[in-house]
Order: sequence, then C-alpha cells, then structure tokens
Amino acid sequence: MTAYTRVLLKLSGEVFGGGSVGVDPDVVSKVARQIAEVVRAGVNVSIVVGGGNFFRGAEMQQRGMDRARADYMGMLGTVMNCLALQDFLEKEGIETRVQTAITMGQVAEPYIPRKAIRHMEKGRVVIFGAGAGMPFFSTDTVAAQRALETRSEVVLMAKQGVDGVYTADPAKDPTATKLDTLTFQEALTRGLKVADATAFALCMENDMPLIVFGMEDEGAILRIVQGEKIGTLVSS
Ligand code: UDP
Repeated sequence: MTAYTRVLLKLSGEVFGGGSVGVDPDVVSKVARQIAEVVRAGVNVSIVVGGGNFFRGAEMQQRGMDRARADYMGMLGTVMNCLALQDFLEKEGIETRVQTAITMGQVAEPYIPRKAIRHMEKGRVVIFGAGAGMPFFSTDTVAAQRALETRSEVVLMAKQGVDGVYTADPAKDPTATKLDTLTFQEALTRGLKVADATAFALCMENDMPLIVFGMEDEGAILRIVQGEKIGTLVSS
C-alpha cells in the first residue's frame, strides 16, 4: 500500500534544463525514470510542467516585451518540456498523454479534466502543458488548480537546489533550518515562501496539502508516495 493513490507533481522548468537554457535529455531521462517507478507502484500521476528554462514572461517584460505576449511564449515553452518528458516516460514503458491549455491538436489533447482522470485510472501519466492558457498566471497556480480539479491528494513541488522550506533563505542565512511540517497559517505569519501567492491561496482555501522537496534527492518521489517524510509538508 502506498501513502497516496493520486498525486500531482509540479516540475519547474529549471528541472528540465539542468540549470541552463533548453532541455537536457540526460536530466529529463533521469526524472522520467523516477516518475516511472511511482507509476509502477500503482499511484495515479499527473504532472504540471513549468517553462522557466525557456522564457519567463515577467523577465521578458522587463526587457521591453508586452507582458501578455511574453507570457504566451512562456506557456509555449512549457509544451516543449512536456514533449521531452513524454518521450522519456514512454522509453520507460509508461503510457502518457499530454494535455495543453492552448489547443495544439498535432502534439497534444486539449485539457479535459474528466479525461485526465480516466487516463490516470488506466495507469497513464497525464502531462499538463501551456499553463492555464492565460497570461499573468504561473504554473505553480496551475498545479494547485489541476490537483484540485483531478481530485489529487497532494501537490508534490519538486525544487532544484533546495530540499524543503527553511526558516530563512539558506543561501543567505547560515542559521536557517529546514522545517519538516508547516501549516498554511504559520507560513503566512512567518512570511515563508512556499509557492507563489495565488497557488498558495488556492491550496490553503481548499485544504490541498503541498510537499516541497528537492529533485536532487534521487528516488524522493517514490519514497514520498510510500509515506517517507521527505522535504516539507505544508497543510491546514
Ligand atoms: N505562464 C503564463 N500563464 C500560465 C503559466 C505560465 O503566462 O498559466 C507563463 C509565464 O510567463 C511564466 C512562464 O509561462 O513565466 C513559465 O512558467 P513558470 O514561470 O511558472 O515556470 P517555472 O518557474 O515553473 O519553470
């Protein structure tokens, strides 16, 4: 028995690029191997993919672009990550479907929540791309929304370079310590950043727990779904 039966994994764009621009196939292949283990353990998995390894709308705006157009570029970037992940998951023998919030029939299905649930029940991994299809949103927010709509039990927030929520920024404060658990209210009171504000509010208002963990810790996702306490659990 696993501790969770349906999880939503949020992979930020950083995870795909291995720290640089674009997609690093070696890194994606490693990530796919980890996800495949979770699916083989019988857990329903869907994934929201970020795109920060290609474009972030807010950064392009600072360099003179119209924000909405730059955000659409950001969303299109997420789809490239989706296709790379789909490829490596299928090489692991896992069936997948990509569903995008911007319709692009040649490469993906449109986002249809009931269909996404059916795919998961059949053991397929559903990869959600193109964010919410709307500028001014982030893929963290989409992760919270998709988790709620597909009735997932938890959002697994995979981070690059950090393995949980700390009392302060560990890069700046040597006394910072990692928190094993945290309530939404404590995070607010102590000013600790778990996800972006909209994503955080959606989770808090709808009792959707989040686990923030480090992607460098190989096998972490499987261990989390098996009930091991890894990273930081943020809940009501
Ligand atoms: N984006 C958007 N609407 C969405 C999701 C994403 O406009 O619903 C754009 C936005 O410009 C964002 C970019 O896509 O900067 C990449 O997504 P995000 O920054 O969330 O990716 P991550 O930080 O997880 O790599």
